[in-house]
Amino acid sequence: MAEIHLKSLAHSYSKSPSGPEDYAIRQLDHVWHKGGAYALLGPSGCGKSTMLNIISGLVQPSEGEVLFDGKRVNALSPRDRNIAQVFQFPVIYDSMTVYQNLAFPLKNNKVPSARIKERVQEIAEVLEIEDKLHKKAKNLTADEKQKVSMGRGLVREDVSAILFDEPLTVIDPQLKWKLRRKLKQIHEQFDITMVYVTHDQLEASTFADKIAVMYDGQIVQFGTPTELFEQPNHTFVGYFIGSPGMNLIDVERSATGVRFGSTEITLSPWQVEQLARLNSTNIKIGIRPEFIRLEMKPLDDSYEVEVMDMEDLGTYKIVDVGLEAQTLKVRVDEDFQVAIGSRLHLSMPSQWTMLYVDEFLIQEQS
Ligand code: ADP
Ligand code: MG
Repeated sequence: MAEIHLKSLAHSYSKSPSGPEDYAIRQLDHVWHKGGAYALLGPSGCGKSTMLNIISGLVQPSEGEVLFDGKRVNALSPRDRNIAQVFQFPVIYDSMTVYQNLAFPLKNNKVPSARIKERVQEIAEVLEIEDKLHKKAKNLTADEKQKVSMGRGLVREDVSAILFDEPLTVIDPQLKWKLRRKLKQIHEQFDITMVYVTHDQLEASTFADKIAVMYDGQIVQFGTPTELFEQPNHTFVGYFIGSPGMNLIDVERSATGVRFGSTEITLSPWQVEQLARLNSTNIKIGIRPEFIRLEMKPLDDSYEVEVMDMEDLGTYKIVDVGLEAQTLKVRVDEDFQVAIGSRLHLSMPSQWTMLYVDEFLIQEQS
């Protein structure tokens, strides 16, 4: 098990990159601590697989260092890095039995045969494939094959880390949920550094203690699911986490804060001060649907809005309200009754009103 430090890392697949857009990984500095259960979450194409392949040594980064427990491993082959990697699609030997497939990584590492037997049994039990051990891998279903592929990653006890690259993509939803729980259980039992790549926020938060959100070749936030929800560090995190995501409004500076159209939003003196120091005109206000309040009567700091649409999602509703040219989504209780076209009063608690400049949160240091 090791701490994995990615230091001033950047990677371009192009031989002569001409700008940031030619980089799959852009200026990244990140530490995966020893023994953590982490998720790497981001949309397709943001660089997740590239990062895993750089850690395991399948890809040589064009800039920066990969350090395991402080030791540079850039020059080490994947084999010498001692990393187990599980891919989206099963990587197994069809002509071997399940037992032979699971034993293979251990045999390669000269583990004594008595221990191989025990360990294969242990992993097969966790993955619930003990009854398949003597079956030829080619006769397995797609789900079972992927379980064996995961087993091959989990079986070694001496690895620095296990990297999972969207390993449950081919697995049916029911089993997916169960396997994710299993992985979590395996993490607790064996205390291995695990990095789990996914583009699914639910999958990330059920597996990981901490999530790295990746966007456009950068880690834009590394935090607990609660931190990502309550304090999105970047507009992308606000938008990507949550369902629906954060409301984001383009605004411009005003005397007491910011405004859009004739709507003034008062900011805290601290936020106003920060804003005054920055030149950018890319300013946004962000607030989550869960934190907006809708009232029948006006409050001191409320805005009159029109109900545009309402979606009933069983245990709650999402109301779309129009505030000038903006449509905001608001989450309300299931018993909230209101007619489309009616007018309500909306307020945005300052505690939950986030200010973004150039897409990054302007955050008061606590
Ligand atoms: P993710 O796993 O998040 O979907 P990838 O790491 O696979 O993202 O890809 C990041 C970017 O690098 C994408 O723009 C992708 O097209 C590009 N890319 C990935 N692999 C290669 C490759 N072997 N050669 C050239 N470009 C690649
Ligand atoms: Mg990928």
